[in-house]
Amino acid sequence: HQTPPYIGRFAPSPSGPLHAGSLVAALASYLDARVHGGQWLVRIEDIDETRTVPGAAEAILHALQAFGMQHDGEIVVQSRRKPLYEAAAVRLGALLYPCGCTRKEIADSRLGIAADGAAIYPGTCRHGLAPGKQARTLRLRVPDAGAPDEAITFNDRWLGPLTQHLASEVGDFVLKRADGFWAYQLAVVVDDADQDVTHVVRGTDLLESTQRQIYLQRLLGYPTPSYMHVPVVRNAQGEKLSKQTGAQALDLARPLDELLRAARFLELSIESASSMTQFWEQAMAAWQARFTLDR
Ligand code: GLU
Repeated sequence: HQTPPYIGRFAPSPSGPLHAGSLVAALASYLDARVHGGQWLVRIEDIDETRTVPGAAEAILHALQAFGMQHDGEIVVQSRRKPLYEAAAVRLGALLYPCGCTRKEIADSRLGIAADGAAIYPGTCRHGLAPGKQARTLRLRVPDAGAPDEAITFNDRWLGPLTQHLASEVGDFVLKRADGFWAYQLAVVVDDADQDVTHVVRGTDLLESTQRQIYLQRLLGYPTPSYMHVPVVRNAQGEKLSKQTGAQALDLARPLDELLRAARFLELSIESASSMTQFWEQAMAAWQARFTLDR
């Protein structure tokens, strides 16, 4: 019988060069795609243009090449795809509504903090902009607490089944930001569907976003890919590595050392690799032994 297609992707934000943390996500998604005979796409997620660092996208692509990770197909760049996000937002219709609340006002309502650090939205503008308020963002209505579609569960390939209650744990969330940019949640869902992505492998820093993305997929009539969230590298303070938290640049003159470190972090057993070719052979075998899908 025919094996179902596998399309995976690595979707870095060009807010800095590839670092030890993003290399782990790249390695995991690459190995999973290759072990399943799938495609591995690369998408530059520069939808938040306030965080884009000039030259970072090129540096990331150059690094992937230096590590021997070859991508399939064309590189997709989010900042050039705004009409697609706009069209998806239009399809959401009345589920999207203008909100005039500032971050501070939302935080002051003290409903709690969602796992991704944003304050839970109390629904102030759900039934129309509060008097005297100007629209700042566009928010997506989530089902009411207790409604059958409010709890979203998916089966993570690394972590097992995970449920999130959208109303109580997230609240209505922003799809168009106050600065006019489309939110990551919308862009990633539109792009994964548009590129026919079947398997998402990424860091646990995005775990709490997954149910929002599944909710959006359901509203837009898109299929839900399979998800696997791999551990993220943290610094001594427990913060996710990024340029802001002092991530060191990778040493592209020693790609084998960097790959071995990333593989060790993922607990892949690599006996001894003295060349990149040996590394890739052993890393594929180790990943295959642990994570091959039943299919
Ligand atoms: N662009 C996101 C990031 O670099 C990743 C998005 C994803 O893999 O879904 O954190």
